[in-house]
Amino acid sequence: MYDYDLLVVGSANADLVIGVQRRPAAGETVLGSDLATHPGGKGANQAVAAARLGARTALLARVGDDAHGRLLLEAQRAAGVDPAGVLVGGAPTGVALITVDPSGDNSIVVSPGANGRLTPEDARAAAGLIGSARVVSAQLEVPLETVVEAVRHLAEGSRFVLNPSPPRELPQELLAACDPLIVNEHEAKVILGGDEAGDDPEDWARALLARGPRSVVVTLGAEGALVASADGAVRVPSVKVDAVDTTGAGDAFTAALAWRLGAGASLAEAAAYAARVGAVAVTRRGAQESYPTADEVEAV
Ligand code: ATP
Repeated sequence: MYDYDLLVVGSANADLVIGVQRRPAAGETVLGSDLATHPGGKGANQAVAAARLGARTALLARVGDDAHGRLLLEAQRAAGVDPAGVLVGGAPTGVALITVDPSGDNSIVVSPGANGRLTPEDARAAAGLIGSARVVSAQLEVPLETVVEAVRHLAEGSRFVLNPSPPRELPQELLAACDPLIVNEHEAKVILGGDEAGDDPEDWARALLARGPRSVVVTLGAEGALVASADGAVRVPSVKVDAVDTTGAGDAFTAALAWRLGAGASLAEAAAYAARVGAVAVTRRGAQESYPTADEVEAV
């Protein structure tokens, strides 16, 4: 009945990565490693992660008519993503400038470029694509209005998953559609209004649920995740690994969780699978290049 297990609505960026011993302070220059250029962006990452796991996946995104755009389209095709929904032109391809320190932590500056030109009209024109997916996932590296419009075209019985990154205040219509809303600590605190949110992930989950989503997942890095719905909250442990680069781990987690939910898994089951996918992703460098196949997840 559905043509796609997952349609991702989101960003596609060229990730320009430099390794550094430490990040520069304001006004300071530090020397880093050779530049590495990788396909990235939260939307493109999620689509590649799902397709590598075996999900029938499509991506609704916009790239520039330039070398970075071609790199991104090729990466989607190579992973098995249907690129029919990737629009070309209007602005340069989005770029993320990423520094990674020896502990594997990253700092990122994003130039949205063409991602900012993915309009609500584009989402309306893609209504057929949106309506043919069992699960639709989105992030906020494309205009919020575009994500809101996309949600209006979900198929009957389909499911919507949102990772509100970068975080901002969300309209009620969008919150009510989320099942789940997936946040890390930073995103939870921004959406809940900063320090008043406290430090307990269970409190964040409860407060977020009160805003309207049917379920909430809080990702906690090496500590795993917390899943919460009207049925209560459950901790999902992480898999112990030696992390070398956490870039894109959250995107792999979200894609895997969305795919498993569409296949009928419970939220806790889907999050446990996603935690294994995220664990493999952090043991390898890069974002899309670090994503495992289903066989590689089985080995964890
Ligand atoms: P991103 O850096 O992509 O924005 P995020 O902050 O959204 O990531 P994280 O909580 O860092 O998301 O990671 C998502 C999931 O990946 C975690 O819930 C966990 O299951 C897994 N994961 C992340 N880091 C590690 C780690 N160091 N060891 C094991 N698993 C990890």
